[in-house]
Amino acid sequence: MAKSDYYEVLGVDKNASPEEIKKAYRKMAVKYHPDKNPGDKSAEERFKQASEAYEVLKDEQKRATYDQHGHGAFDPRGSGFQGGRSSGGGGFHDPFDIFREAFGEGGGIFGDLFGGGARQRSAKQDGADLRYDLEITLREAFAGAEKTLRYDRHVSCSHCGGSGAEKGSKAVSCATCKGTGVLTMSQGFFSMRQTCPDCQGAGTKIAHPCRACAGMGCIVDSTKTKVQIPAGVAHGMKLRLGGFGEAGSRGGRGGDLFVVVFIKADKQFERDGDNLHCTLSIPFPLAALGGEINIKTIDAEAVLQIPSGTQPSAILRMRGYGMPNFSTTKRGDQLVHIEVEVPKKLTSEQRAKLEAFAISLGEDNKSWFSKLKDSFK
Ligand SMILES: [Zn+2]
Ligand SMILES: [Zn+2]
Repeated sequence: MAKSDYYEVLGVDKNASPEEIKKAYRKMAVKYHPDKNPGDKSAEERFKQASEAYEVLKDEQKRATYDQHGHGAFDPRGSGFQGGRSSGGGGFHDPFDIFREAFGEGGGIFGDLFGGGARQRSAKQDGADLRYDLEITLREAFAGAEKTLRYDRHVSCSHCGGSGAEKGSKAVSCATCKGTGVLTMSQGFFSMRQTCPDCQGAGTKIAHPCRACAGMGCIVDSTKTKVQIPAGVAHGMKLRLGGFGEAGSRGGRGGDLFVVVFIKADKQFERDGDNLHCTLSIPFPLAALGGEINIKTIDAEAVLQIPSGTQPSAILRMRGYGMPNFSTTKRGDQLVHIEVEVPKKLTSEQRAKLEAFAISLGEDNKSWFSKLKDSFK
């Protein structure tokens, strides 16, 4: 098939300047662009020819070669320019690439013209995520718990099944934009596209909105759901309940519910990671002599060994009596802060024995003891 002369295709003189060639090409491209001539094969052909001609003539070197050797220089097998993308370098490219090149990237006004600015939007919308602040006790954090949550959220409207349309009615194609979601306005040579203001780009409208949800497809409902609090949960930890957030509208995906766990202060224990701290008062003879004492743990009772000579503010560690680790379930420790009780009242027998004990401490302690003894006389 004989090819038309590139200069003839663009309708320019053989001596045309690069500016003239570019101008001529723009004119052709706008006139024969497939978007403006849907289904018109001859326009499409003209568009391709113009792109092909411009691809060669815009390039000084290619143009010189073409002037010397004609089409044969570029198209020995008839494969180079025959539309589509070539795999090798130097061949013919997508005509639209040249088109964009000729008008600059982004396209300016042409970007809007051929689908940059206006956009068709889906009518469906995904639901938002929700947050629920849940307060639990330390013992619940220790053992894990099942909690019932009550909250309001948007759920899919049961009356219309979430479609937003009243029974017997359907979402119909928007008359303003003929279902495209986009309005095209012609102003002389140019045409502009904008999002349809009537359907906000959805392309559909509900002729008879659902009475129950006013066409939204969802309603506010009080929801009750159960959540399992895992043992060892930390203060401030977030638990995600997929799909328990706001429902999407008109078929959109539902949001998630994030349960934020707050742990109330405990009367007996203070938590530090997986460890639990507590305070224990012991009689001073026990601190001095050592022995065993029963102590409460977070979930039961245990026997604590007090070493002889335990000092006030000593910290005794009970391994494995702390909180379960959230990931490993291995338990931390219970740390017992010791306070030593001094008796406020003594019987005469106790006093005598303590005096004897004080004397037994030796010379260094005698002076303060005799002064003390004098003061009671
Ligand atoms: Zn409804
Ligand atoms: Zn519309």
